Amino acid sequence: MIVAIDGPAGSGKSTVARTIAQRRGFIYLDTGAMYRSVTLACLDNQVDIADTEAVAHIASNSTISFASDNDQTQHVYLNGKDVTQAIREERVDSAVSLVSAIPAVRECMGDLQRKLGEQGSIVAEGRDIGTVVFPHAEVKVFLTANAEARAHRRAVQRDGGNAAQADKAVSSEEEKQILADIERRDKMDSTRRVAPLTAAADAVQIDSSNLTVDEVCAKIEALIDAKSSQNSSEGKTPQKAEISQQTTKQPAKATPKKKVKTTSGPMPWWGNTIADYHAHQIPEFPLGARIFRWIAISVVAIFSKLMWRWTVEDRQKIVEATKERGVVLVMNHVSMLDPIVAYLTFVALGLRIRPIYKDEFNDQGPLGKILAWVGGISVRRGTADLKALRNAQHTLESGDSILVFPEGTRIKSDDEPVTIHGGFALMARMGKAKVLPMAIVGARDITPRGHHIPHPKKVWTKVGDPISFEELGIKGRKEQAEAMEKVAMERVYALRDELRKEHPGHF
Ligand code: C5P
Repeated sequence: MIVAIDGPAGSGKSTVARTIAQRRGFIYLDTGAMYRSVTLACLDNQVDIADTEAVAHIASNSTISFASDNDQTQHVYLNGKDVTQAIREERVDSAVSLVSAIPAVRECMGDLQRKLGEQGSIVAEGRDIGTVVFPHAEVKVFLTANAEARAHRRAVQRDGGNAAQADKAVSSEEEKQILADIERRDKMDSTRRVAPLTAAADAVQIDSSNLTVDEVCAKIEALIDAKSSQNSSEGKTPQKAEISQQTTKQPAKATPKKKVKTTSGPMPWWGNTIADYHAHQIPEFPLGARIFRWIAISVVAIFSKLMWRWTVEDRQKIVEATKERGVVLVMNHVSMLDPIVAYLTFVALGLRIRPIYKDEFNDQGPLGKILAWVGGISVRRGTADLKALRNAQHTLESGDSILVFPEGTRIKSDDEPVTIHGGFALMARMGKAKVLPMAIVGARDITPRGHHIPHPKKVWTKVGDPISFEELGIKGRKEQAEAMEKVAMERVYALRDELRKEHPGHF
């Protein structure tokens, strides 16, 4: 069982998470303490926080661990040294949000958090637990409180008291200063680009401003009990639920795709953001979006088939390649028709594929929403967009596939310089998936330069053989990803050349 508690500073997450972990015998994971430890390591080593590479180096070379003493107090260790007190100092408070906004630091901490989560049932608290670190947590809570209550709790804590003592008097000057710091940190944490503080779509929101610790715990424990009894009525024990999450780590053969558990539950009918669609799998979309998807599929299928009479050679290879889990389909990009052909080919085979598209489309009127409804996932190009990577990973684990155009933009001439965006290899690695090459020919001139109305033309596509990381025979994460980028695109271009030979004069 994974219980995720997110919320702003001082909302009571730590006290509540620790209490529940003690009562239930779960592991307690204070992820804020991890970011604080990295910050302390930087400050102690005079590392400039603005030097993101140096900070990332510190994060990946620090050992952070937790241990409880006899009276159950949790201690935090940084490279073997007890830093439980030091990480709460004001100098750490001031710098931690800058450190935690660095994508490489988050990636490193996220990996460590997931590893700790594999050790048993866990209550994890932080800012991105239900959204990024454990998006499939069985219980998700977003804990809030008004800023004054939060400042008061932190002031009491800093005074050496227990944050739960709401009536303890503290200096109003200090409280004012803490309030300003909390508000500054909340703003930074909520507006950062990577994993901002935000409630997961399926999180239960609890306002703790006027509740005691016991009252908040009771609410969360009721959610845990409800989930446990739901699991047992479905024939699952909490232990089994954990095992099924871990099955994603087994070799593909041992994980028939229907058994991989990656669902984070159905989405609400109303009020979903584009990001909510990206974080859920297509079968979890609300009914309205699913109906829209089928209408769009029918209309576009009829129109595109009549207009371009496109065909797919060797499409059986898609069925073979997706038997155990989803694939990352990579294609050359010459027109708007390319994603349509790939998408509809999967649909015709009874499969689902989610196109990766650049997030600038989200700002173009209703386009972002439409792409989200049909299952697209947006990516912020030129950055390590961790959220997009994770969404793609969960899609692959669920058995659905991902469609990527590594050329990034439509290539209208063979002389145009091409930059290959390597994110697809990373997605395949994270999702333990194969990369499937596919090529398209004939579509390049359906909207010649200077024209907006597409011309009817015949279009051909061809599917290649899947490529696994094992067959590349290369060790090392970075080297493997680079080799995959190269080999996959070589295969795409080889398929394109075969098609061009079969259909001379078409590009
Ligand atoms: O929870 P706590 O206040 O100790 O967290 C300290 C800081 O660590 C937060 O202000 C935030 O910048 C960062 N943090 C984070 N993601 C988490 C936990 C904490 O970015 N999951």
